[in-house]
Amino acid sequence: MAVKFFDYQREYDTLRPRILDAVDSVFSSGQLILGAQVEQFEAEFAQLVGARFAAGLNSGTDALSIALLSVGVGEGDEVITVANTATATVAAIRAIGAIPRFVDVNDETLQIDAKKIAAQISAKTKAIVPVHLYGNAAPLSELEALARDHNLHVIEDCAHAHGSKLAGKHLGTHGSIGCFSFYPTKTIGAYGDAGACITNSAEIYERLKKLRMYGFSGEPVALLEGRNSRLDEVHAAILRLKLKSAADYFSRRQHICQIYFSKIKNPHISFVKRSLPNQDTVNHLFVIRTSRREQLMAHFKQSGIGYGTHYRYPIHLMPAYRFLGYKPGDLPITEKSCAEILSLPLYPTLSDEEVEQVCAVANAFRG
Ligand SMILES: *Cc1c(COP(=O)(O)O)cnc(C)c1O
Repeated sequence: MAVKFFDYQREYDTLRPRILDAVDSVFSSGQLILGAQVEQFEAEFAQLVGARFAAGLNSGTDALSIALLSVGVGEGDEVITVANTATATVAAIRAIGAIPRFVDVNDETLQIDAKKIAAQISAKTKAIVPVHLYGNAAPLSELEALARDHNLHVIEDCAHAHGSKLAGKHLGTHGSIGCFSFYPTKTIGAYGDAGACITNSAEIYERLKKLRMYGFSGEPVALLEGRNSRLDEVHAAILRLKLKSAADYFSRRQHICQIYFSKIKNPHISFVKRSLPNQDTVNHLFVIRTSRREQLMAHFKQSGIGYGTHYRYPIHLMPAYRFLGYKPGDLPITEKSCAEILSLPLYPTLSDEEVEQVCAVANAFRG
């Protein structure tokens, strides 16, 4: 039995009539951009993640750029982040002319190593962008302390972290702004590109809304230098349907991870540790580590098991970012882990039998 790494079509088979109704009602409503669907989606998403405000945007990448702009980060400012993330995190920082400063990660959790941040802070540093990798929490209390001491904003990359909490509070509500992606594969996925920022600050929220539409506030007069990053009504309507099942999606993911944790037993395979004891985690990705990745990938391929690598290429060594001046060996733990990680299938429509099949194939790997 083959198991796909990701399969939205199974979900579509069940949601199809409701999605088509939602799309039809938007197309018939006479309002395609920034209407009732976006407004209601924002209220419902904010409520789901326990934030005062949410602003719908057109991608997770834009959510990060616009979040940074909204707190005054711009050309030439430095932003601390990691290199074992989606290229999007770095592209978003560069899109506003800011400069990423990379920090290595903790060897067990693969989250930003808070102890190594201070050495990267300069007079130009304006923000830290922790990535809650796989849906596990970055060390937020240490980051908040550093941010207070150095007058920095914490802008959380929550593209993997829908539904995850730390100390009872949703990820994305600990820093100044939480940035979400609703790319189709994400824990809450649209049927196209979409994103959002959440915040508890009314002032930041007002700026986010201006920045997503040319800097306008009502009148077509630019009060800030903005851009176009609106969430479409049609995606908002589909996302509202998905939000209704969010609790089920979260618990199904947790259940699948429990099966992986309890049934995978192979001396060649280890788990990425969850970061902190007081987190209630909803994983977007289930990631294992092995020093024999090429062989394990071949083994999965031969058995029809889909897999991914998040992330295989450390960003500081990518050709496009050579100008930043990093070289191999600068982030040793990041570089080593990028060669060891492998993501297993994880999505709500996966059956227990399929998950157990993945475990059986993993356990049959002989290195
Ligand atoms: C998906 C992702 C993004 C970007 O989201 P898009 O909606 O694809 O622009 C940013 N950061 C991380 C960690 C992601 O996984």
